[in-house]
Amino acid sequence: MEPKRIKPASAAAQALGWIDEKTKAISPAIHPATTYLRDEDNQFRSGRVYARADNPTFDQPEALLNQLEHGVGAALFSSGMAAATSVFLALKPGDHVVAPKVMYWALRHWLLGYATEWGLKIDLVDASNSTALAQAIQPGRTKLVWIETPANPTWVITDIAAVAEIAHRAGAKLAVDSTTASPVLTQPIALGADIVMHSATKYLNGHSDVIAGALVTAKDDEFWQRIKSVRKNGGAILGTFEAWLLLRGMRTLFLRVPAACRGAQKIAEHFSIHARIEAVLYPGLPTADGHAVAARQMRGGFGGMLSLRIKGGADAAIAVAARTQLWKRATSLGGVESLIEHRASSEGANSPTPVDMLRLSVGIEDPDDLIADLEQALETR
Ligand SMILES: *Cc1c(COP(=O)(O)O)cnc(C)c1O
Repeated sequence: MEPKRIKPASAAAQALGWIDEKTKAISPAIHPATTYLRDEDNQFRSGRVYARADNPTFDQPEALLNQLEHGVGAALFSSGMAAATSVFLALKPGDHVVAPKVMYWALRHWLLGYATEWGLKIDLVDASNSTALAQAIQPGRTKLVWIETPANPTWVITDIAAVAEIAHRAGAKLAVDSTTASPVLTQPIALGADIVMHSATKYLNGHSDVIAGALVTAKDDEFWQRIKSVRKNGGAILGTFEAWLLLRGMRTLFLRVPAACRGAQKIAEHFSIHARIEAVLYPGLPTADGHAVAARQMRGGFGGMLSLRIKGGADAAIAVAARTQLWKRATSLGGVESLIEHRASSEGANSPTPVDMLRLSVGIEDPDDLIADLEQALETR
């Protein structure tokens, strides 16, 4: 069967069906080599010179991700932050960027600090409001619109297709941090995005044992070549073993993400009316602000991430997290095990995150166990 015609779940399960030519092995080899043999006539017909630029262990995970995201090129990075910052570093000092107010904390911090000092002009907007976003764009000066959907840590939804149109009308590119949606639920390029970013640390790898990042592009243009050059010359490349582990993790992506979605939906519905809970933040609830847009641009679920605002403020929220047993108190998301986190504590000073909020990453355990554990943790004693 044409590899392009098989369904995404099949492509992922078989890692695109590649077989090692020499050994017929059905799982790929790891190539730790840092350098490649030159031909006698001084050429590099293998196409590979030095592993900072060309590592064959990246080929398969990059090709799979590229197919899942409908791209024309993909690049792995040493972390999600390395992937994201490479997009901004491919811009030029003086360029204007529109980014969301609600977004992954470390990236927001980097944009307002380092990127601003380096010379980018950053405006943060309410990206769930397309009109507000359109007003922040400066035609000719705005080179990039960055969005994240569902966005950390309150899971607000941004309409990718609408923002793509706004960005393109002004001659700007649209990049989407699609970490929490994963390619199972949303394919931003199909909705008009130019660049998709993933913290592959999260759902793509899925087992809380690899830090990695990835970008996928809709066009192999000058901007993409600048991004590739930032990776190659800046050196933020992934390790070979991590690339291999990442591909192994991606093979079960289409089992893990739907399981996490089912769990999150059940938990969100269960706690939507609860004496100790102020609000459940989850785009899968019909009462959520972005529910209609999410239902349109997410297929097969609303993600495995939700947040609970606990009555009684920060101390009450921290006490609930302290009493959980099955849920593990840890930052990060997208692994097979469920994590609970008092997000404002992790973000630290100047965090815009509500202090009464717990961020939940739902794993693939039985949701009834996760609900029972939260119920006992919420009991007033
Ligand atoms: C974790 C995360 C990042 C950063 O990725 P790292 O792999 O930790 O560098 C960026 N965006 C989102 C939405 C994330 O969850």
